[in-house]
Amino acid sequence: MNFILLGPPGSGKGTQAKNIVKKFNVSSLSTGEIFRNIKKQNNSIKKLISTGRLVPDRIVIDILFDCFKKNKYFESGFVLDGFPRTISQAKGLNVLLNLKHIKVDVVFFLDVNSNEVIKRILKRMICSCGLSYNIMSYNVGNRYNYCICGKKLKKRDDDKEKVIKERLCIYEKFTKPLIEYYKKFGILVYIDGSRDEMCVFKQINSYVKKRNFY
Ligand SMILES: [Zn+2]
Repeated sequence: MNFILLGPPGSGKGTQAKNIVKKFNVSSLSTGEIFRNIKKQNNSIKKLISTGRLVPDRIVIDILFDCFKKNKYFESGFVLDGFPRTISQAKGLNVLLNLKHIKVDVVFFLDVNSNEVIKRILKRMICSCGLSYNIMSYNVGNRYNYCICGKKLKKRDDDKEKVIKERLCIYEKFTKPLIEYYKKFGILVYIDGSRDEMCVFKQINSYVKKRNFY
């Protein structure tokens, strides 16, 4: 089964992608993660991301084609998190999938309003070991702001308030039209993403079960 997670920054796409991978044994492809790795070597991409702007469609689609070529996304099924981000990326994805005679089964739209998004992202902290935290829910004694591995937590470059607002503007303008786009294909499923992580996943899970995909 092939999933897409759609939603504003901070709507929990990454978390739900991980839950889906664990439960349904599909491969995951997070373009955000890919770009955060690429930007370590590529200064122009680094600049785009740290100011909240979109990476050009051409580059994103090339990277995606490359990932699909190298990995076994087609056999195991996949979950895409952070892609497509524009209509033209969605069209590029369609071309790629048509070539392989596969289709997207469901697009989960995680709906969270902008105020909640800003609140959530400002609370997000990461560690270089790969763990991430919500600093409001993570306050263990005086080790506040430290990871369980002992290192100090920091903010992601793209998690500063000005950058978040820029990302939200871009989301409204370029990514939100994808809701209508996938509605036309009859595969869009609305999820209230403002609830806690487990509630959201329960709804995703019960939808998949109901459709008898698994
Ligand atoms: Zn750590």
